[in-house]
Amino acid sequence: MKNYFSSKEIKIGILGGGQLGKMLLDVARRYDLYTRVLDPSVDAPCAIGCKEFVQGSFNDYDTVMAFGADCDVLTIEIESVNTRALKELQKQGKLVFPQPEIVELIQNKVLQKQFYDDNQLPTAPWFGFKNKAEMKKKMEKHSFHLPFVWKAATGGYDGRGVMVVRNINELENIPDVPGLIEELAAIEHEIALVAARNQIGEVTAFPPVEMSFHPIANLVEYVFCPAQLSEEKLEQASKLALSLVDKLGIVGVLAVEMFVNKNGEIWINECAPRVHNSGHLTIEACITSQFEQHLRAILGFPLGSTKQIRPAVMVNLTGEDGFTGPVYYEGAKKMLATEGAYMHLYGKTETRPYRKMGHVTITAETLEMARENALKVKEIMRVRSV
Ligand code: ADP
Repeated sequence: MKNYFSSKEIKIGILGGGQLGKMLLDVARRYDLYTRVLDPSVDAPCAIGCKEFVQGSFNDYDTVMAFGADCDVLTIEIESVNTRALKELQKQGKLVFPQPEIVELIQNKVLQKQFYDDNQLPTAPWFGFKNKAEMKKKMEKHSFHLPFVWKAATGGYDGRGVMVVRNINELENIPDVPGLIEELAAIEHEIALVAARNQIGEVTAFPPVEMSFHPIANLVEYVFCPAQLSEEKLEQASKLALSLVDKLGIVGVLAVEMFVNKNGEIWINECAPRVHNSGHLTIEACITSQFEQHLRAILGFPLGSTKQIRPAVMVNLTGEDGFTGPVYYEGAKKMLATEGAYMHLYGKTETRPYRKMGHVTITAETLEMARENALKVKEIMRVRSV
């Protein structure tokens, strides 16, 4: 009989070979599991570290079908995958986690928002549209006032496909694609939480983290854990995330991004059915990491403890503006002298402005000490080209 822990190995297929997959592979190697990875680039971060690497597009139906045919369990490290193929593989008896229907729902921000409304989960008031003409008509009907936030229904990530509209002339810059507009939240804190559910319905939540964003690139620059909010608010956020996990019935991890508004309300911004940038610090800061938790959840193992061991700050290492080409991590050696700094480089050979190239997690006795060292790390280490 096939078993995860026997020489008749169960094959785990991962769609996407980026840094998230690379960190999943670290755990898979530790557990000595059989892994196959599908990615279009032979230079993908996962190309080394998996048992089998398959070059091909995870968006292409036939490629995903062929890739999955020889796998027992399939998972993703990126949302933009061919869900039609995953549904077919599921019909054929493969275990596909997260479930393809959930991936499909989350791929589309309009469907995602509708799900929150249908399940009474608090989110920014919004409406969806098929094109710009419909958007303008609905704006009048719903008496939507400036400023507001425009979001493309599909294809956006790391702040691309999102635009704050502050004056009416800016409407002209909006692409004519299906999307939604929503109220601009009066945000006090942006927090996130990685939760997990396994096949028998056990759930866990990691401690909520606070994210701070790069002002220009609109992507996460620092993540702080624990988030500096009252116990009551943290509890409320965890409950909200777990209720979303429960309503989706997802198997695997779910990262939930939330806004804590100035009036104290918590709104779900969006969620991702996969390991997430906001959970990287769980590798060093918690008993179990989000990567180990995801594998445990999808493989039917007991979930691990999510308890935090030490305060931590994560610094994203992104390509410095003005540098494109073969990467050079300036100051890396000096940075490593920082106590409690754990460097993760993703193995991408080419840098470009704001590309996520790695991260450093700093743990310390107090969050304040970790924060001080994180600021130093940011000063010392730069992602440039040779
Ligand atoms: P992406 O899918 O690209 O990560 P998000 O929906 O998370 O896009 O938006 C990116 C960022 O834009 C958020 O982290 C937040 O800072 C800001 N943002 C998004 N929606 C709103 C909103 N309704 N009100 C205020 N800021 C928002």
